[in-house]
Amino acid sequence: MLDLVVEGNAYLDGQLKKCCIGINNGKIIKIKKILKGDKQFDFGDKLIMPAGIDIHVHFRDPGFNYKEDFRTGTEAAAFGGMSCILDMPNTKPPVISIKTLQDKLKLVSKKANIDFGLYSSITSKMRIPKIAELCTGFKLYLASTTGDLLFSNDWLLASVLERTNLNNRIPVIHAESERIIRDNEATLGPAKNLHEHLLIRSNKAEAESISNLIEIAKTWSKNSYNKALKYNEKTKLTNLELNEWKDFNEIEKLKELRKEDNSHLNRIIAHSNKHIHICHLSTSQGVELLRNYRNSIKQYISDQAIIMTTEVTPHHILLNEKFNNHTMGKVNPPLRTTDDQSALWSALADGTINVLASDHAPHTLDDKTQDFAEAPAGLPGVETMLPLFISFVKHNKLNLDTFISAISTTPAALFNLPKGRLAEGYDGDLIVIDFYKESKIKVRNLHSKCGWSPYENMEAIFPVFTVVRGNITIKDNNLEVDPGTGKFYN
Ligand SMILES: [Zn+2]
Repeated sequence: MLDLVVEGNAYLDGQLKKCCIGINNGKIIKIKKILKGDKQFDFGDKLIMPAGIDIHVHFRDPGFNYKEDFRTGTEAAAFGGMSCILDMPNTKPPVISIKTLQDKLKLVSKKANIDFGLYSSITSKMRIPKIAELCTGFKLYLASTTGDLLFSNDWLLASVLERTNLNNRIPVIHAESERIIRDNEATLGPAKNLHEHLLIRSNKAEAESISNLIEIAKTWSKNSYNKALKYNEKTKLTNLELNEWKDFNEIEKLKELRKEDNSHLNRIIAHSNKHIHICHLSTSQGVELLRNYRNSIKQYISDQAIIMTTEVTPHHILLNEKFNNHTMGKVNPPLRTTDDQSALWSALADGTINVLASDHAPHTLDDKTQDFAEAPAGLPGVETMLPLFISFVKHNKLNLDTFISAISTTPAALFNLPKGRLAEGYDGDLIVIDFYKESKIKVRNLHSKCGWSPYENMEAIFPVFTVVRGNITIKDNNLEVDPGTGKFYN
């Protein structure tokens, strides 16, 4: 007898199939037409899909608990269909050492309603290998924003990115050029509204920073290709093998690759030795740079996203500088223009953007109703992201495969989490979607401590049932788990 069986129209790696998902000890162990469990739920024709994974949240714990804490943040995430979130390091104290990371882990473990990971920030002096053993990923701020974790050492950048990779941790990067932002501010003075904020943190500031990162990625590709050529002289690889090799640094990885049967993108991400992930892409210029980069490497690899991946937030896709409340819409990178929004939509649809991430950055209404210059940057979004985008799937603005890949499968694969697929051996994480249950977002129904949402009154479809590692987490619009149920993944 299984612990839990959930029956419905399940999304199994690209196919919808009426079946039962059987979970034991937190793992999916059987997927079959008929299964029996201690607990059994039949959802008829409703969609069962892997739960979401939000790789970019700020739960403000410790240090800013009046805005959010790990308990309320993970509760909001659970209602929004997430099984796992990765929390950013700009808390107080910031996560920049083994000690601060251990302290934070101890504190938030007791509060986590769902699974989680923790980023460490990077300073030029830090001992990366030690921290890499404990953190889930590294966050680099190339421009100043909330908290003071600016990484300003340009000539150390490539080697730091390389070292995080060598220690099997992905660097995720806030890519804006601090120099351009400062120059603009010196010329234009402090911003008083969203439009001026956008002029200061200009499209060019993001584009230049991304372009520098692409140069680093290109050097990596070239180096590993040259290494492969040398290897070829010794072992006589066929041309075909050499083609596959070009972005892999060890022959073992190539051999392993042949045995795997996951989707191509996931295999590549999981086995690629070096990786850069760009946070919250927001400009049409950034989209073009990344698209061109991918096209340029396509000639010698069969899929695009080997070395660089990127994410987009709901607010950069759905809102722009005309947002009706200026301080509430203040965020870094800034809300941009309708042209940027359409570029982001098409990039998400064609796979240039790989991941949807909320950058949930809650501030209270008091914080956000100060003068524009003083108001902190950031918008909440962890609870509304999946419900908003599943509604776009319903209305044919986004296809189901792209959506599930961006919100679940690819983020899991990026961080090597045993999540993101309804498949045997994976964590027993799933959500159930009733496409007929569309409703308008109302702040009074949300669970973040911050008490507001930029998406008030937008259409959304909240999951009706959520399971995380076999634990029924949301049922009948109730949180069914206790704080501390969430497991730390690193
Ligand atoms: Zn952020």
